[in-house]
This record gives sequence, C-alpha cells and structure tokens, in this order.
Amino acid sequence: MFEYLSEKLSFSLRNISDQGRITEVNIKDTLREVRMALLEADVALPVIQEFISRVKESALSQKVNKSLTPGQEFIKIIRWELINTMGGQNDTLNLAAPPPVVVLIVGQQGVGKTTSVVKLGKYLGERQRKKILVVSTDVYRPSAINQLETLTKNINIDFFPSEIVQKPLNIVHLALTYAKQHFYDVLLVDTAGRLHTNNFMMNEIINIHIAIKPVETIFVVDAMTGQDAAKVAKSFNSMLPLTGIILTKVDGTSRCGAALSISYITGKPIKFLGVGEKIDALEPFYPDRLANRILGMGDTLSLIEQIERNVDYTQAQKLTKKIKQGNSFDLTDFLHQMKQIRKIGGITGMMNQLPGINKLPDSVKLQMQNDKLLVHMEAIIYSMTAQERVNPEIIKGSRKRRIAAGSGMQVQDVNRMLKQFTEMQRIMNKIQKDGIMRSLKKIIP
Ligand code: GDP
Repeated sequence: MFEYLSEKLSFSLRNISDQGRITEVNIKDTLREVRMALLEADVALPVIQEFISRVKESALSQKVNKSLTPGQEFIKIIRWELINTMGGQNDTLNLAAPPPVVVLIVGQQGVGKTTSVVKLGKYLGERQRKKILVVSTDVYRPSAINQLETLTKNINIDFFPSEIVQKPLNIVHLALTYAKQHFYDVLLVDTAGRLHTNNFMMNEIINIHIAIKPVETIFVVDAMTGQDAAKVAKSFNSMLPLTGIILTKVDGTSRCGAALSISYITGKPIKFLGVGEKIDALEPFYPDRLANRILGMGDTLSLIEQIERNVDYTQAQKLTKKIKQGNSFDLTDFLHQMKQIRKIGGITGMMNQLPGINKLPDSVKLQMQNDKLLVHMEAIIYSMTAQERVNPEIIKGSRKRRIAAGSGMQVQDVNRMLKQFTEMQRIMNKIQKDGIMRSLKKIIP
C-alpha cells in the first residue's frame, strides 16, 4: 500500500545511517532525497516544505543521545515528523453523545461513500456492539438506495428505506425519528456524491447538516487522487464543518500523498482507511503505525525505543573500556549483560525483532532463546563470591555445591551454566571488541 514511499525513503536513509555525526552538510543530500521521495509520492508541496524544515531543525538541534547512532536518531526524527504530519494520534468516532449519534457521510461521486457507510456500520456493530441504522438520501442516482440496501442484507445492521421521489431533508427527518423511537445507538446517513463547486448540492448538504446536527460529519475521499484529495477536502471543510476523514482505496495506490497531506491541510483527522472492496476492509487510522509501515521498520524502531528506555549506557561503556584494555569478559559482566537483555524483552523478544541475531550459531541460539535460563543463570551468579565471578576456574566441587544450594539449583545446573558461560564468553569476547550496544547498532541500520 505504501511501498513506493517506503522504498524511496529507506533508500534515502541508508546513507545517513553510516554517518558518525549529523551536520548540516551531511543531511543536505539525504533531505533532498527525502523531499524527492515525498514529491513523487504526490504529497502536497506546503506539507513537504514544513516537514523538511521541521526534520532539519530537530536533527541539527538534537542533543547527543548516547544510546543511538546519528543514523538511528535521524530515522527517529523522520518517524516523529511523519506522525505529526498525519495528525499525531488515532482519532476515533465520537460516540459518547446521547443516542442516536448521527454520522453524516459526504464526498464526491464514486469515492466509496456507500461502501464506507456499510463498512462503518459493520465495524461499529461488531466491534463496539452498537445498534446501527443506515439510510440513503441519494435520490439522484437511481440505484444508490438499492445498493445500500443490498450491501446491508448479509450483515447485522438495519436499513431504513427511502425512495427517489422523496426530498433528502424529509428522508433524514423520518430516519432520525425512527432511530429515536427504536433506540438505535448510531444513525449513519449516506448522501449523494457532490462537487464542492455545485451550489445547489452544497446548499442541500448544508441544510441537512443544520437539520440533523450530526455529531460526526465524515468526508470520504479516494486516496488514489493524491494531493488533490486534500484540496477537495479543504473546500468542503470551508462550507461544511467536517469532523474527520475516511481515506478509501488505500489498497489501490502505492503512493500515499493523500494520507500525508490531508490532515495537515484540512486540520481534520483521518479516522479510518478503506483498504479493499470487501465490507470488513476498514482500518482505524493510527499515524504511528502508518509511519512505521512507511519507514518499513516497525520492529526495529520499537527495539530502538526499548534500548533507549532500558539500557544502562554508562555500564556498557565501562565494559567496553575494560575489554579494550585487554581484560577478559567475566561472570559479573555476563550478569550485567543478561540483565540488560532481559530489560529489552529477553533474548526471544530481541531475536524476533533483529534478524541479525540469527547469525549466531544454532547451539547458542537455542540456549539463548530460553528466557527462563537467563533467570536461572542470574540466580547462580548471584550466589558466587566476587572472586569466583572474576575467576570461574576456581569453582570446583565444594564451591559448586555451595553455589547450587545458595541459588536453589542443582550442581549439574551450575556445571551447565559454567559451560554455557565459557561458550558465550568466547562469542561475547568477539562481540565485546565494540560492546554489545555498538554491535546492535551495526545490525540496526
Ligand atoms: P460512492 O459513489 O461514493 O458511494 O462510492 P461507492 O461506495 O459506490 O464505491 C465506488 C467503488 O469503489 C465501488 O466499486 C467500491 O467497491 C469501490 N471501493 C470503495 N471503497 C474501496 C476501497 O477501500 N478499496 C477498493 N479497492 N475499492 C473500494
């Protein structure tokens, strides 16, 4: 769906990830490429300009964050600004008003209004257990009312009948009265497609809006129209107070100009995405998830965040220094590493997020994937004296028995743990040349 921008952006960001420091000079080329990628994805120009200037300002004013490389930092800024541009947070329908909550669906012809009314009805009925009534006021297109009726047939929402000889204003009054009398939670009103330049049609919808005072006035717009979608939405909004947007046919475009431009230009949130012709192809809109999808690195980004939140960087630095000075990786270091790894969500969690970790030998992976083992190993190490932690070779028979008793484990567990430590020590010493956090940074772009 958003592959195009995703591909272009990942390509642009590849260069910056190797940079040791972010400077005005080295982000210039990357920002130019990001600008091009956004232009080609049909994002509106004012949105691009604002986006680029905000990214640049944040990147250059960033305090050095010791746990991230400059490349990661830059990607974080891009992600953050993408989220901001798309409205910041998920905004859903306001259903807290006294029932029936009226939702008026408006937009141009063929954008997916009727389909969205039915999708929304199904979504609210099934996911939020609401009692839904739908009605069509489209008396201009002969088959429109039938289309809505047919689509509601197989799903559990009620259809209020109307006819093309009726006046739209009359239809909505009747439907609203019926909805009140029969205790519906939500009344979804489908309307005829209209151009913002058609005065007659715009007056009609303004009058309907005044008459039924909808809690939500949702503008439906086709994502395939790119940045034009934002312009049309803006014109509608100047005549009719919109409360949100449904962006349809997102499945039909790999550019995402509309998704990026529309909230910024109208100041109204995208509430749902239409992602297919089927009736359940409707997704609530989450700017952060979409930003992750656009950057094609959802999992990596959440790992970066976990590392930032949890890693004790000073400890990691001390360890790196120690190893660099030629000292061996001992059991205290091992303990510390295990604690860090557990904080990041355990080895299994990390492995799932980082394909690079899979390069470790199978024997190690199997041992590491068992997160419970980390807890046991920690307990065993805690029962050792400082001397034993630095010199595990001195741990023989009686020491082993004491350690096993102290940690609530068996001697064979201590043996196994020591064997695993030796094996991991070998690998860790390899990784440790840089420190584990640096090693992770090499794996993460
Ligand atoms: P309306 O004139 O605005 O009411 O538009 P319709 O609801 O009749 O939809 C017009 C066409 O777009 C129909 O063929 C729908 O199946 C199709 N459509 C609507 N939403 C989507 C969507 O999210 N994805 C795709 N691929 N097609 C859609």
